[in-house]
Amino acid sequence: MKKAKYKRIILKISGEALSGEEPYGLNAETLDSIGAQVSEISHLGVEVAIVVGGGNIWRGIKGSQETGVERANADYMGMLATAINSLALQAAFEKRGLDTRVMSAIEMRQIAEPYIRRRAIRHLEKGRVVIFAAGTGNPYFSTDTTAALRAAEIHAEVILMAKKVDGVYDSDPKANDNAVKYDVLSYIDILNNNLKVMDATAASLCMDNEIEIIVFDLTEKGNICKVITGENIGTIIGG
Ligand code: UDP
Repeated sequence: MKKAKYKRIILKISGEALSGEEPYGLNAETLDSIGAQVSEISHLGVEVAIVVGGGNIWRGIKGSQETGVERANADYMGMLATAINSLALQAAFEKRGLDTRVMSAIEMRQIAEPYIRRRAIRHLEKGRVVIFAAGTGNPYFSTDTTAALRAAEIHAEVILMAKKVDGVYDSDPKANDNAVKYDVLSYIDILNNNLKVMDATAASLCMDNEIEIIVFDLTEKGNICKVITGENIGTIIGG
C-alpha cells in the first residue's frame, strides 16, 4: 500500500495543461487522466484542493493587447475562463465518484459556491475535492498567485505545479538540447534569475509563507501519485 507524504495539498493545473496537444480548449483524454490521478491520491487520504488556470481559453494581458479590451476587463474574462475549466474538472472528478465542490472567488451561485475559507477547509476535512475557480477574484493577479494565496489560507503543505515539462530548467528544454534541469531551487533563485516557474508575486508569497512547491510533468500518467508519495521527480522549490 502506497503511503502519502502530505495530508493537504494544492494542485495547480495551468489551463495549457488541459488542452492536450492542442493550443486551445479542453482535451477529453487529459481531463480523464487528471480525474484518475486525483482519485488515486484522494483514496490515499490526501485532502486535495485544486487551482486551475485559464490560459487554454483566454489570458488577460494577451487578450487585451489583441482585442483592445481594457486590461482589468480582460483579466475578468480570464477569471471566467478558469470557471469553465473548473466545471470541466468537476465533471471529470464526479465521473470517478469523487465528491467535488467548486468554490468561486467571483459569485456565480448557480454553478459554484462562493469562496468561504472555513467552508473550504470543512469540505476538505470531509474528503471532498475542492476546486477554486475565478482566481483571486481580482484583476492584475494570476492563478499562480491564487495557488500561493489559497495554500497559505487553508494551510496546505505543498503546491504541486502541474506542467507539460518535468521540472525547472536553466533555459527552454524545447528550444535548447543542452538545457539543464534543477532538482532543487530556492525561492530567491526563482526571483533573482527570473526563472519562468511562476510570477514574482506568487513566488514571494510562497517565500513569505514557506510554502513548498514541486514542479512536475502532468502529462505522464501516475505522476501526481509519485509526487505525493515522495518520489523525486520534477523540481522542488523551498527555503
Ligand atoms: N486572472 C486574474 N486574476 C486572478 C487570476 C487570474 O485576473 O487572480 C486572469 C488573468 O487575466 C490571467 C487569466 O485569468 O491571464 C488566466 O489565468 P492564468 O494566466 O494564471 O492561467 P494559466 O496560465 O495558469 O493557464
